[in-house]
Amino acid sequence: MMSEKCVAIIGAGITGLTTGYYLKRNNIPFRIFDTASLPGGVMQSKKNETFVWETGPSTGTLGKPEAMELFEDLDLSLLETAPSLAGNRYIWKGKKLHALPSSPISGLTTPLFSWKDKFGILFEPIRPKGKDPEETLTSFVKRRLGTSILEYAVDPFVSGVYAGSPDTIIPKYALPKLYALEENYGSFIRGSIKKMKEPKTPRDKKATKKVFSAKGGFSCLIEKLTQEIGMENISLGLEKCKVRLDENGYIVSANELENKFSHVVFCGSARRLEESFSFLAEEGLQDAFQITYTSVMEVAVGFKNWKGRPLDGFGALMPSKEKRKILGILFLSSLFSGRAPKGGAMLSVFMGGIRHPEYLKLSDAEVFEMVKKEIQETLCVTDFSPELFEITRHEMAIPQYDKTTPARMAAFAKAESMHPGLILGGNGIGGIGMADRIRQGKEMALRIVGENS
Ligand SMILES: Cc1cc2nc3c(=O)[nH]c(=O)nc-3n(C[C@H](O)[C@H](O)[C@H](O)COP(=O)(O)OP(=O)(O)OC[C@H]3O[C@@H](n4cnc5c(N)ncnc54)[C@H](O)[C@@H]3O)c2cc1C
Repeated sequence: MMSEKCVAIIGAGITGLTTGYYLKRNNIPFRIFDTASLPGGVMQSKKNETFVWETGPSTGTLGKPEAMELFEDLDLSLLETAPSLAGNRYIWKGKKLHALPSSPISGLTTPLFSWKDKFGILFEPIRPKGKDPEETLTSFVKRRLGTSILEYAVDPFVSGVYAGSPDTIIPKYALPKLYALEENYGSFIRGSIKKMKEPKTPRDKKATKKVFSAKGGFSCLIEKLTQEIGMENISLGLEKCKVRLDENGYIVSANELENKFSHVVFCGSARRLEESFSFLAEEGLQDAFQITYTSVMEVAVGFKNWKGRPLDGFGALMPSKEKRKILGILFLSSLFSGRAPKGGAMLSVFMGGIRHPEYLKLSDAEVFEMVKKEIQETLCVTDFSPELFEITRHEMAIPQYDKTTPARMAAFAKAESMHPGLILGGNGIGGIGMADRIRQGKEMALRIVGENS
């Protein structure tokens, strides 16, 4: 490897920017390359004189200490956490929204789950462990908790997070913490109780269930990161970005320019890995490119005066069984300040996903009619005349940690072991949530910092 460290980062989304930020703090030179014309990847907020809205991720969970640490390192006053009402989550069943139970009492009284599954929970601690580590989430949840909990808690959750289906998602990769409860303790309930009793370090305590954004929208976090990194270290709007092997390092060619680096860190989606790293195919590592994505459409709907049901929670999710046309609605203005004027509302409506990829082909007028009907029926709005209605179509946007995952992970690991200085990240590995992305970006930077030159 080149004796001096110099790092190429492919991708200027939250993962790549976090990697760059922590390299900069450790005085390691780097350059970030991206074909997009703006930094931030899918993380983009917009605003006008009345509303602030997101076109990509709308909220994150501070579930990893690295997410909190990034705000502490950058500027803690940038962090905005949602009030406790974010704990209220609604699920559609029959003809109305029901609160997802949050206590043993509400678990007993909820109409969402069957009596068989409510009482069956008592036997969860003694149910045998699964035998197939690659079993789907559907089979995993049915086995441990029952069908109604699958249909009215897990299925809508998977739609909300992955725009996917529990029939294809594999908990070992998509929900490693839940999987580990069964694996290590034999039961979710026993495992959760034991984990609660385990001593926590001050760092562990930084990881919480708090819902977060940045003050003024996620783009403010991206702006702060780019400012700290310095635009002179970021090349955007590139036609293409190719990496080839060179003696003791890597040559990155972007547009007409070529530069040599000791390390290359990939921070894009796995479906775009081949574009830059064609040499992996020549080495028989095509599995690294295999990934399933779902497409999702996000519709920002803003009202100056909200006249529907109280938006007293995080949002509402629609189980597949209910056959509604949307996946869910996030009550963005109830979570964060300044998203809508007082008395108004900013909603993020999600559609498409694995259930209805064809919806992304609908015209704007057709989407409007669909969203209108869904909001009227689910949030009790009679007069639907929003002041803002903006559609963002994300083709192949959300990676599914399904049966392609183990082969992809193995190919990533093999490529890294064959090529010192190559680090393959991005949301095809290590989780899709904001906190997972920040954690991965920081870890990749610190791996390079920790290497001996
Ligand atoms: C609509 C939507 C809603 C979401 N909602 C949430 C949410 O509410 N909460 C949450 O936690 N997560 C959410 N997610 C997931 C989360 O947003 C993503 O996992 C995360 O933002 C991905 O960040 P990233 O930097 O890894 O990738 P990206 O944001 O995809 O950025 C990757 C960048 O790399 C560039 N790139 C890729 N390949 C190449 C290449 N070969 N050459 C040059 N450039 C390349 C791309 O142009 C892009 O700019 C959502 C995702 C979507 C799409």
